[in-house]
Amino acid sequence: MTTTLIPLLPVATEPAVTCSTCAACCCQLEVMLITDTGVPERFIDVDDWGGEVMLRLDDGWCAALDRDSMLCTIYDRRPLICREFETGSDECMNERQGIASAYI
Ligand code: SF4
Ligand code: SF4
Repeated sequence: MTTTLIPLLPVATEPAVTCSTCAACCCQLEVMLITDTGVPERFIDVDDWGGEVMLRLDDGWCAALDRDSMLCTIYDRRPLICREFETGSDECMNERQGIASAYI
């Protein structure tokens, strides 16, 4: 019996999606405050319908985002919606594509 060796070729894989290679794209979305997680008052705004939302600055980013590190400054008190926004989800990928030029 003869044995044929089949060379193994490297398989191209997509780089893992992580927040560390993202310019906090999801922190430009409107975030409603539907539970009390202790968000400081200075970061809370009221929308046109009277609901509480995270305050966003003129450029669209959340006021609680640190502009040097692009990390959340209230991570332990961030809203429920931010906690449930899943890295790598369809929504996450949509936001990343929207600001693709900002990636490292
Ligand atoms: S868009 Fe996705 S990868 Fe970027 S910061 Fe938000 S959860 Fe993380
Ligand atoms: S509260 Fe934090 S995680 Fe939520 S949008 Fe603002 S900066 Fe991003």
